[in-house]
Amino acid sequence: MSRPPQTSPPFPSLTFDNRFTRELPADPIETNSRRQVVKACFSRVRPQPVSAPRLVAFSREAAGLLDLTEADCRSEAFTQVFSGNQLLPAMDPYAACYGGHQFGNWAGQLGDGRAINLGEIVNQQGERWTLQLKGAGPTPYSRNADGRAVLRSSLREFLCSEAMFHLGVPTTRALSLILTGDPVERDMFYDGHPEEEPGAVVCRLAPTFVRFGNFEILAARGEIALLQQLADFTIRTGFPHLGEPSPAVYVRWFAEICRSTAELMVHWMRVGFVHGVMNTDNMSIHGLTIDYGPYGWLEDYDPTWTPNTTDAQGRRYCYGRQAQIAHWNLAQLANALYPLIGDTAPLEQALRDYSLYFEQGWQTMMAGKLGLIAFEPATDRPLVDDLLRLLPEIETDMTLFFRRLALTPLQASAEDRMAPLVDVFYRPEQLTAAWRERWIDWLARYAARLNRDNQPEAVRRARMNAVNPKYVLRNYLAQLAIDKVMEGEYSLVEELLEVLRHPYDEQSDKEQFAEKRPEWARHRAGCSMLSCSS
Ligand code: AMP
Ligand code: MG
Repeated sequence: MSRPPQTSPPFPSLTFDNRFTRELPADPIETNSRRQVVKACFSRVRPQPVSAPRLVAFSREAAGLLDLTEADCRSEAFTQVFSGNQLLPAMDPYAACYGGHQFGNWAGQLGDGRAINLGEIVNQQGERWTLQLKGAGPTPYSRNADGRAVLRSSLREFLCSEAMFHLGVPTTRALSLILTGDPVERDMFYDGHPEEEPGAVVCRLAPTFVRFGNFEILAARGEIALLQQLADFTIRTGFPHLGEPSPAVYVRWFAEICRSTAELMVHWMRVGFVHGVMNTDNMSIHGLTIDYGPYGWLEDYDPTWTPNTTDAQGRRYCYGRQAQIAHWNLAQLANALYPLIGDTAPLEQALRDYSLYFEQGWQTMMAGKLGLIAFEPATDRPLVDDLLRLLPEIETDMTLFFRRLALTPLQASAEDRMAPLVDVFYRPEQLTAAWRERWIDWLARYAARLNRDNQPEAVRRARMNAVNPKYVLRNYLAQLAIDKVMEGEYSLVEELLEVLRHPYDEQSDKEQFAEKRPEWARHRAGCSMLSCSS
């Protein structure tokens, strides 16, 4: 038998320093069987090779975080490594153990059921990035599922991670989207009609993928020494500015998680993002958007909208409840950390501060969206409340509305003030005279309020356009890109990635990606509602 030629491993410049697996206890069982994993933070597991990996897209900015060039990303070795087919010698692949509250109920052990961490990179700037393949095969945490991911959900995660980054929203990043060449069976609508779909792997990057659930599972099992070990590790590696771990430092750490989570909620509200599955296992300890599943973007402004079909009844995770749900999730984390602190008062204080912090952030954000210099509660609260009552009254595109509002002339007739807004509404038959009257009234109050600020129009416009994106990953745009890749055509993924690099710029040749949702997409699966099947 001939031996394969000896070649040196690719990407020798990638420097690994795998602190998570070096410093925390591993599952002693090394067989990859589905089970409860106790007294451990992770299980070592290798990605399962795929038959014919093909690169669909990569993010050059994410590659830059690893000091990889575009040529590196286009190499065959890249496709082999980031599909999970080839391990680099310094990688130490593992799946993390975590639990979580799903839809308000404790769900016990969940864990990385199809995500496999490859290790932690230290880049030339000294930044640390954990590499993780999603859809890389089964792990001890796969329960009854296959460890794989389908193209549609992988493409949506890949594009949205990078779009969120360019919008300035804290998020995990996505390096690559690779088709595996292996079909995956999914019952997309849970109606007993499973079908084969193309499988894919996304390589994600984050400072760490640690979630609230990593702590919850240890507290739930009464593994308090290990809970403290993971908390100490997380603080020393991720929050070193807080000082050496102690009960006081755990409190400061929790308060910081509350703050970063509040900031994240403000960002989601600003851009119209709905996560869709805000279970505690999908909450990052760093306040990052994590685990893009059946997420969606508000098209017509409807605070009760949820993209997740599983949530259609209760609407627990709808747009308008996200800040409240984050608070509930933080309370679950507080319960998990309580054994390390032994006092509920400071945790309750941090939770109250979350609400204050969110409210302040939300007010500043709304002032920014409206182009006000600062939020003056006495006048601006009623102005904003009335706006948020008007917006959902008829179907009004949120993204277009705020972009067009910047164009509203202040010194003008009521007619002229309305003019920039005429095409942000979805149903012309809803534009009644009474409704128009109320808008004209609101715009007059808005103009009067802006006159008090006395900023030049161009300055107001620029400030508004810096926080109100023109381009977001509208649900139907992601679906169009999925349809194209299914036909073997990858260029729309590239084009969307490019447009979404500059979401606040006009990009006059890309107007079609800023248009409101076409009617055909109103009820099409993937464009209006998504199932958790992924
Ligand atoms: P999610 O709702 O996607 O956050 O997933 C909840 C849990 O289910 C996590 O532990 C996932 O790793 C796991 N999971 C989801 N899909 C799969 C799959 N296809 N194979 C194995 N585990 C999965
Ligand atoms: Mg998840």
